[in-house]
Amino acid sequence: MERVDVVIVGAGLAGLACAYALAGNGLDVMVVERGDYPGAKNVSGGRLYLGPVRPYLPEDLWNQAPFERIVSKERLTMMADGGSTTLELSSVAFRRGGPPHSVTVLRGKLDRWLADVVAEKGILIIPRYKVEELLLQDGKVLGIRAGDEDIGASVVVAADGALSFIAEQAGWRGSHQPRNFALGFKEIIELPAKTIDDRFAVSPGQGAAQLFFGSITQGVFGGGFLYTNRESLSLGLVLGIQGLMDCQPPVEAHTLLDAFKERPEVVPLIDSGTTVEYSAHIIPEGGINALPRLYGDGFLVVGDAAGLALNMGLTVRGMDFALASGVIAARTILAARQRGDFSAASLAQYEALLKNSFVLKDLATFKNALHVLDNPRLYTVYPQAVTGILEQLLTIGPEPKGKLSATAIGEMRRRLLSWKTVRDAVGFLKM
Ligand SMILES: Cc1cc2nc3c(=O)[nH]c(=O)nc-3n(C[C@H](O)[C@H](O)[C@H](O)COP(=O)(O)OP(=O)(O)OC[C@H]3O[C@@H](n4cnc5c(N)ncnc54)[C@H](O)[C@@H]3O)c2cc1C
Repeated sequence: MERVDVVIVGAGLAGLACAYALAGNGLDVMVVERGDYPGAKNVSGGRLYLGPVRPYLPEDLWNQAPFERIVSKERLTMMADGGSTTLELSSVAFRRGGPPHSVTVLRGKLDRWLADVVAEKGILIIPRYKVEELLLQDGKVLGIRAGDEDIGASVVVAADGALSFIAEQAGWRGSHQPRNFALGFKEIIELPAKTIDDRFAVSPGQGAAQLFFGSITQGVFGGGFLYTNRESLSLGLVLGIQGLMDCQPPVEAHTLLDAFKERPEVVPLIDSGTTVEYSAHIIPEGGINALPRLYGDGFLVVGDAAGLALNMGLTVRGMDFALASGVIAARTILAARQRGDFSAASLAQYEALLKNSFVLKDLATFKNALHVLDNPRLYTVYPQAVTGILEQLLTIGPEPKGKLSATAIGEMRRRLLSWKTVRDAVGFLKM
């Protein structure tokens, strides 16, 4: 049987970050990827928050990365039936020189580039290689099996994404619960760079991130996103799977995207664009309450495979968790090699390091996010109320206008005053 020190299953951001951080340390590392190339099977919205991950990888790597645009404008749109309300944040802090706060990315480009960097550092990356099972003995992972080939390893890193069948096979998590997952799907719509600059009123190289929530998901937990790339837009929806399953009458997810694209808020932004790509993927959203075991004898789980993602409604994160957990796994492996011990007791350091990092700290802080956000009123009552109240305040009709304060208070009473609203407000305080 062929043997290496470390096999990483999956060349997404988690697997590649792990390989990058292992390179140059005298270990024999192999990354296997079932896609035709790294990035071929990877989907994200996608906006990468650089703040949390900057300390984990060298600065010159970030400077060379093929990012699309620096996000200098944030928009949040509450979609009601027949109207919407948009908040726009255009802060000098986002436009200042120096490291950007967040950037838009296309995974087909980003993952492929990172894989090339990793390969140049001497790591073997094998595409079109699907791991079918783990080689296990008495709960200890000894390697991987693909077809009739077995490869032995001191450590196997499961970086195989949200459904991580290999973590399931190892028995380190139970079967998947629909409540803990969302379905994300998106289109990439090509437009000239100048058209994007003009439509979003941004300077060349800068861009906008727009999140939408409300009637577009028909009461299902989730929302829409629109990110500007250099010469394209990423437009899509993320929907809780349990909510979709419970929908009455049943809803076909793709019809919601079609309806989203037809909204007057979206039509002028994508007008004359050409859809060049359509993709869909599962997103783990169970948070800290739904994590699998993160380590075992000869085994570590990183990124989406470990459920490390966080949807807080206002921000959707997973790529920063994937990158950081990959690097932390690499640090754990290097320390274990020093000890000459790849047992579960030795690899337990991985969880300790994660707990000390933003990864498990943020997941712990927002442990109630799923519970709070999985509330149909957030997507029906509130966007409708906000838009309706503003409509009343801003409309001048044939009759003399009432006092603004009386109009606002009256409308709020009529639309929002109920014990459910109070309960929602109390729930929101837990986030
Ligand atoms: C629609 C959508 C929007 C999102 N928006 C954002 C966003 O704006 N910002 C953000 O930070 N995050 C976002 N996310 C989440 C983010 O994309 C993920 O958290 C991130 O991709 C996780 O990276 P990963 O490397 O852990 O997993 P993945 O990128 O899924 O990589 C796993 C890899 O493993 C490979 N693989 C799987 N099984 C095997 C096997 N048996 N053998 C070999 N290879 C295998 C796969 O082909 C894949 O390349 C979004 C996700 C979706 C779906």
